[in-house]
Amino acid sequence: MREKILIVEDEKDIIKMLEYNLKKEGFKVIAARDGEDALDLAVREYPDLILLDLMLPGMDGLEVCKSLKKEAKTASIPIIMLTAKSQESDKVVGLELGADDYITKPFSPRELIARIKAVLRRAAEKEKLPEIFQAGDLRIDFARISVTVKDKAVTLTAKEFELLRTLLKAKGRVLSRDYLLDTIWGFDHAMEIQTRTVDVHIRTLRKKLKSESKRVITVKNYGYRFEGED
Ligand code: CA
Repeated sequence: MREKILIVEDEKDIIKMLEYNLKKEGFKVIAARDGEDALDLAVREYPDLILLDLMLPGMDGLEVCKSLKKEAKTASIPIIMLTAKSQESDKVVGLELGADDYITKPFSPRELIARIKAVLRRAAEKEKLPEIFQAGDLRIDFARISVTVKDKAVTLTAKEFELLRTLLKAKGRVLSRDYLLDTIWGFDHAMEIQTRTVDVHIRTLRKKLKSESKRVITVKNYGYRFEGED
């Protein structure tokens, strides 16, 4: 899966430079030119990481960082701040607000990529699922890729299992159809017929989960979430 990175930066040339280097490394890139746009994109696109410039017009980077960490939907997205040398104190505040790392301008693309990879690795470590998940009558063994409901084996297709794993990993967060499509099927541009693919798989997944199908919750006009608690 290609990780998606959101760049928040008002300077066109820096966006271009970042975009070029990140794409070369195989990342998907989206960009916002100001804070409001960044918050909106973070919720809609759910990037894997945010590169956040602190010097932005209007809402500044620290405010953006604070809002991202306050909103449940975006709180777990790792943030790397881009700071100028003169912003030493802001850097500390940013880290206190929950940013994961910072890099001081000017920086080399190599250094930046190394930081990004390190932060992503740490985030993946944190998101790791337990080998066995159990709630109610549902039991999922991720190592063996086996699912049971009331001790009866449930046969899922690879995509259905991946769907279940992805929803579970989100820990109750709502995932959009586009996000699921992108993550599981790897389509870059979801057309209507493709987005429906997600619905079709959710339907068969629910059918197979029987009494535990209630855990896969539809969020109207948006997507799905998994309810792990009883
Ligand atoms: Ca700037």
